Amino acid sequence: LRHVRVCRGTSCFVSSYGRNVAQVEAALGLRCGMRDPEGIVSLDGAYCLGHCYASPAALNGSTPMTGRRLGERLRSDTEAEVLAQPIPFRAASRQPVTLAGLSGDAGEWQVWPETVSSGDPTSVLAEVAAAGLRGRGGAEYPVAAKWRAVARGPAPRYVVVNGDEGDPGSYCDRLLMEADPHRVLEGLALACFAAGAHRGFVFVRSEYPIAVDRMRVAVAEARSAGHFGPNVHGTGFDLEIDVVQGAGSYVAGEETALLHALQGLRGAVRPRPPYPTSLGFEGHPTAVNNVETIATVPWVVRHGGIEYARMGTPEETGTKLVSLSERFARPAVYEVEFGTPLRDIVEVLGGGLRDDRELRAVQVGGPLGGFLAPDELDLPLLADALADAGVALGHGSLVAIDRSVSAPELLRHLWSFAAAESCGACTPCRVGSRRGLELAYRLAYTDTAETEHQHLLEVMGTGSLCAFGRGVAGSVRSLLRVFSHDFGSGVL
Ligand code: SF4
Repeated sequence: LRHVRVCRGTSCFVSSYGRNVAQVEAALGLRCGMRDPEGIVSLDGAYCLGHCYASPAALNGSTPMTGRRLGERLRSDTEAEVLAQPIPFRAASRQPVTLAGLSGDAGEWQVWPETVSSGDPTSVLAEVAAAGLRGRGGAEYPVAAKWRAVARGPAPRYVVVNGDEGDPGSYCDRLLMEADPHRVLEGLALACFAAGAHRGFVFVRSEYPIAVDRMRVAVAEARSAGHFGPNVHGTGFDLEIDVVQGAGSYVAGEETALLHALQGLRGAVRPRPPYPTSLGFEGHPTAVNNVETIATVPWVVRHGGIEYARMGTPEETGTKLVSLSERFARPAVYEVEFGTPLRDIVEVLGGGLRDDRELRAVQVGGPLGGFLAPDELDLPLLADALADAGVALGHGSLVAIDRSVSAPELLRHLWSFAAAESCGACTPCRVGSRRGLELAYRLAYTDTAETEHQHLLEVMGTGSLCAFGRGVAGSVRSLLRVFSHDFGSGVL
């Protein structure tokens, strides 16, 4: 059986004028969720495949493919255009940190043997605290505080790397897992040591099959080199690391849902508190950290937290990876310092839009982030400043929306994502996301749906159990604000 997954992410939506899924379905003669009668080809949609620099994209088995005639190419393996292009990246900070390994500035496993041999985990905690390092997956929680909370709890303790980078538009975690997996593993080893954990997991989404393979190969290599296993480097410290593949759910990126998935349960969110730091994997203290966060730790331990905190701003120290979508002239993962104006990222690094297209809006932080108009791009890349503008930084994706995109279709795209990926654990989001999609079809043509739409956003924004429902509501609000002229006169 040849399994094809076509990307439904926002970059693929924008670059194909919203047609890529329909074109692939037409070319294969299948609807998403079906297989052909002979059982040779099956087709599914996915939010997203993390190829946003080369949209529109699909996975043919585990082979990424792209191109304007994607559907036709998928019809036959012999016509296939394989996306062989490596993920483009560039460190644009004063010095590369998270991208240090990829930029040729530092080899692998430079600090782990010495750190574990010291027998003193407090030095790792002290450097990470001095760095002011916060979670890069969107929650911005101080990393050292999380590890200390786990270390205070009873054994066994665990650390889980969250490689469920589901935000359509973001592919920086995919870059790290595929191109620099040993840096992720060294960061995980240091995190386990600091938190007093003897077992770590890397949870990788199924939409990233190459990342799954490369992380597994890297784990085997690191174990043979003595970085894991019993009695690591003769120190008496035991450490086991496993790579676990997800089952394909956006919400499994939320830490409680991820822990459910890791235990073989349905990836549904549960209320917090209790937080995973006290009630995590199999009921034990667990730190869940995103890939980018963990991959930053080796540099911080090697160079010192104070050196890291010299970059960025006093409110938000250090660097952040941002992913720019295919509509930019230079789409890539860029490492930038916090406080960098968005305009510099969009116009200087990204080079503006390709083909002289005109920028209409930038979606920041994926479907739970929000939209900014071109005249709002002087905002700095800081979570608080963006939150004041009604946008969440999330994973740091920037998807360019040009004037060819229909705002009503973009609204339906956003609600379709919400309806497809809501985990269903709470009513405001489970019912609200479906209702939002229905209203989105009416909102473009009539004012009558506006009041109900606004009420729905209020209920989802305040009553949803997790950041998904609240984020969707905020994101839809920002879309209606930025594209207000495209909807019925009564909107806003
Ligand atoms: Fe699940 Fe949505 Fe509720 Fe989050 S807000 S718990 S994703 S139904």
